[in-house]
Amino acid sequence: MQHHFEKAKALDQADELARFRGYFFNQEKLIYLDGNSLGQLPLKTKELMSQLVAEQWGERLIRGWNEHWMELPSRLATKIARLVGAQPDEIFVGDSTSLNLYKLAFAALSAQQGRTKIVSDALNFPTDLYVLQGLIQQQFRQHRLELIQSHDGISIGEEQLEKMLNEHTALLTLSHVAFKSAFMHDMTKVNQMAHKKGALVIWDLSHAAGAVDLALNATNADMAVGCTYKYINGGPGASAFLYVRKDLQARLNNPVASWFGHNRPFDFDMQFQAADDIRKFGVGTPNILSMAAMEPGLDLLLEAGMPALRAKSVQLSNFMLEMIQQELLPLRFSLASPLEAVKRGSHLSIQHPEAYRINRAMIEPNDGSKAIIPDFRPPDNIRMGFAPLYNRFEEMAETVQRIKAIIQSAEFERFGKEKLTVT
Ligand SMILES: *Cc1c(COP(=O)(O)O)cnc(C)c1O
Repeated sequence: MQHHFEKAKALDQADELARFRGYFFNQEKLIYLDGNSLGQLPLKTKELMSQLVAEQWGERLIRGWNEHWMELPSRLATKIARLVGAQPDEIFVGDSTSLNLYKLAFAALSAQQGRTKIVSDALNFPTDLYVLQGLIQQQFRQHRLELIQSHDGISIGEEQLEKMLNEHTALLTLSHVAFKSAFMHDMTKVNQMAHKKGALVIWDLSHAAGAVDLALNATNADMAVGCTYKYINGGPGASAFLYVRKDLQARLNNPVASWFGHNRPFDFDMQFQAADDIRKFGVGTPNILSMAAMEPGLDLLLEAGMPALRAKSVQLSNFMLEMIQQELLPLRFSLASPLEAVKRGSHLSIQHPEAYRINRAMIEPNDGSKAIIPDFRPPDNIRMGFAPLYNRFEEMAETVQRIKAIIQSAEFERFGKEKLTVT
């Protein structure tokens, strides 16, 4: 392991983003590899929240809407637009990713009359599939959902994807980066393939936003949704976002009509009239506290810049991958992520028959070593996320060393096989 630690040291010294770690709430005895489930707390957010609650909510009360809060969602939208390569008037911030997908999928299926096929893939996140299943049951009873299968549980072949698309396809919806394997679709190619068949595409960017370079406009993406509590560090349950390309906005309608999607909500008109811009996708009053908490994390990403962040993410993952190959494959681990960096997001999954208990031992060491938090995804995946804003190369080497120690001492046998609720 010694040479890995030396390499880590050199990489940390050369890291141009190293200073960003200091802007986060770090803990000395913790290595956090779960920034792809819940990002770390920016120190500025901590300060901002207590100030905002006391001054804006406490003192200003309802006046806070005009003074601060009405403009907050669109200011965040402008920043998210920069992050994902879109225009400010193509992004709506609010609601959850699931609800945003529901709204956009409903709108897309309604706009694609006569087409009854919905295509997704077997690597997609369960909530996305549940949303589609629910839509079919409630409203689109003639539609059917077809999943592109994966040969290896890791990736999806482009030819397979192309074969699934035809003139009956209304909608193709995919996670840009797969939550388990980190497989990343080629957005440009997939959009082209789908558009050739007249299908609309919704991308789920939850594991991509803030982790990989996105260019929604340049790749001619139709629609997208994404969450902000992963790599954007917006905090637990932070508001999600959605994107609709400008020229599609008139054709697509939000199935949930509400006052914040109204053209003039404060006229208190008795008749609903949808806003004629991206605001039409709003549902009710924005979650101001949670949105405010998102802004410092977003600002840090924009300051660092996505090209530099992506470059560091690839370096972190490649370094970890090299150590997995040399140190962990001989210990009955296997790799459950693509080998090539261009086909990966910012995490790696490894598999082991004892993955669950190894994961527990990483989180709860009993030898005074640092706690390491990856996450467990059934049946046997340990998933390690790399957040280029705050993860260090040395942490990668420490993690591999710790996993080796857990296996060699059979320390995982301290734990039972029954699973905790949140893994
Ligand atoms: C995290 C994640 C979600 C989260 O959905 P919520 O509705 O915000 O809970 C959705 N899709 C994908 C692909 C995710 O990774």
